[in-house]
Amino acid sequence: MQIIKEPHKLTAIIKSYKKRGKTIGFVPTMGALHNGHVSLIKKARKENNIVVLSIFVNPTQFGPKEDYKKYPRNFSRDSAIAKKTGVDIIFAPEVKDIYKSGFSTYIEETNLSHILEGAIRPDHFRGVTTVVLKLFNTVQPDISYFGQKDYQQAVIIKKMVKDLNLDTEIKVLPTVREKDSLAQSSRNIYLNKEERKSAIVLYSSLIYAKELIENGLTDAEEIKKRMRETITKERLAKIDYIEIREPETLQPVKKITREVVILLAVKFGKVRLIDNVIMN
Ligand code: AMP
Repeated sequence: MQIIKEPHKLTAIIKSYKKRGKTIGFVPTMGALHNGHVSLIKKARKENNIVVLSIFVNPTQFGPKEDYKKYPRNFSRDSAIAKKTGVDIIFAPEVKDIYKSGFSTYIEETNLSHILEGAIRPDHFRGVTTVVLKLFNTVQPDISYFGQKDYQQAVIIKKMVKDLNLDTEIKVLPTVREKDSLAQSSRNIYLNKEERKSAIVLYSSLIYAKELIENGLTDAEEIKKRMRETITKERLAKIDYIEIREPETLQPVKKITREVVILLAVKFGKVRLIDNVIMN
């Protein structure tokens, strides 16, 4: 396994692989790897000749009051996991190599980036699309792998690829969960014992909504109300949003007659967690 820091070096290596007809699978991450990341890497390993994993904590997607400085970083643990899982190249650039002095060009999806997560985190998706496009330009992947856990992010990336005619296929893989069904996340380690226990309510409220729909309830407001009641029973939970949306446009749905995505963001103390399920 190679560890590459400089973007121009990676570009040269990728070029030589491509010349030899090798396909490139790409998994972009911010490190602090867990089983969610591992499932993306494993899928990339199965479907491509070369697997590139990027580890880059991207400053432009964090708000001024967010956890950029204390985001968990553990490169030696991450590279051991990557090696074991079959990664060929770790791309771990430094901030100064991605955002060179005087950097002033951003890429922004303008329709879906300011709702849901974007309403609460105003510049977040601009940071995500900017860094992902830069990573795509460097890695030149045939297939790129993202997690359903960050549902809105995956929709926005797909939109960017379509709108800008980017030549990479996007695959979105299911959310990997802990035994008690909390979605795996690098931020779960911030939860104290009590918060960790309460956080189970995220997924259980989504499953509750799923059951309500399966039993014939179609009124989105009523479903959201019942989810809210379930979640507020947890003393430590503070709801940011509960939404039922159309899966691609992310527009609100009033009456559930077709596939929908149910998304929620809930705070436990200082830790903000998101989760979602698709109902078809
Ligand atoms: P992150 O390092 O948190 O930016 O995530 C990197 C990639 O892993 C993104 O595409 C995430 O959606 C994906 N991911 C994060 N958590 C999970 C999970 N629990 N299951 C599946 N994919 C995940």
